[in-house]
Amino acid sequence: MKITDIKTLRLRTPLPPEGQVYSRTGIRRSRSALLVEVQTDEGFSGIGSCSGGTGPVIESIIDKVLKPVLIGKDPRNIEDLWEECYFRAGVKAFGSRGIGVMALGGIDIALWDIRGKIKKLPLCRLLTDTPRERVEVYATALYPDETHKVVQQARALAAEGFRGVKIKLGFNFAKDMEIVKAVRKELGDDFAIMTDANMGYEVDVAMKAVAVLGDSGVAWLEEPLFVENIAGHASLRFHSSKVPIAVGENLQTCFAFQQYISQGAVDVLQPDVARAGGVSETLKIAALAVKHGLPLALHNWGDAVTLAVSLHLAAALNNSSIMEFDCTYNPLRTELLRESLEPKNGTIAPPSGPGLGIDLSTEALKKYFFAGEEEINFRQKAINAI
Ligand SMILES: [Mg+2]
Repeated sequence: MKITDIKTLRLRTPLPPEGQVYSRTGIRRSRSALLVEVQTDEGFSGIGSCSGGTGPVIESIIDKVLKPVLIGKDPRNIEDLWEECYFRAGVKAFGSRGIGVMALGGIDIALWDIRGKIKKLPLCRLLTDTPRERVEVYATALYPDETHKVVQQARALAAEGFRGVKIKLGFNFAKDMEIVKAVRKELGDDFAIMTDANMGYEVDVAMKAVAVLGDSGVAWLEEPLFVENIAGHASLRFHSSKVPIAVGENLQTCFAFQQYISQGAVDVLQPDVARAGGVSETLKIAALAVKHGLPLALHNWGDAVTLAVSLHLAAALNNSSIMEFDCTYNPLRTELLRESLEPKNGTIAPPSGPGLGIDLSTEALKKYFFAGEEEINFRQKAINAI
């Protein structure tokens, strides 16, 4: 069997004002995705997602760097192809981290989709004989707002059956802490509250935050500092006896995770399959987590293809603790599949068909097709010296 073509599809939808969210990574005025399809000479094809990264840049890496390596190769040799694309072609062309790894990751997901279709098994069953039937997810939905409104939203999510919810921090220390305390009071002690600063604190503020958050019994503090400040995360973790430090959505490849682990800078690993290098690389990160006794909490804030593959991984990996579910307004999650993947009582079953087990909606692909350039979100400077 041979790979005959690799096609990309850029999708984007503007968001109405009431669907826009505001975090340290900027105001999200649109949602976008770059899908990739790998075709073969025997009728099998696979679909993957390169997350919502800058479309034309990723497309160019796929066309100019990865496609020439892959055309004519056997798609069943996934692990060898990954190595060839990364070590022999990619690292020189696009560097060892970043957007080139996202391009490779999207193709890798499509190759796993093909492997599942050839073997007539859903991805989770390719990975283990005994996957979980349903995956526990927590809701990412609580963005900065008036405290009573955040509390109201938290109550609504609990009523929908979620047992965990994430609160976005990183704007104003006092307000951040007020919101966490108010949500804890509303939801009671038997409810998981995750917090996420999206790299919005400097070390001094993060130190004060973990002291207060510890009293509120939060499940973790995510991305407290800029991602390259590994020593800062290590120092924070050393001083944070009650609050686990979670990192991973902006780390690519197992090498990046290894650096965090070896410097004692992380408690919870949060790889995003469409950003970290695909299924193959997420499996390596999961193995690393097992070796070091760390839990895995898959990051997922994107399109429905990414959601599907993440569910398969979370169902198959025995050290997967809880997975993220993006509850914000996102037609690329809710409309992209013929059968939308929706939570019930805070859990979702991975699709049951072979491979990723998904059918894309041709109407949605037409509706959200986008030929233009993606705008760039600007991060705000981190908070220090409160
Ligand atoms: Mg996050």
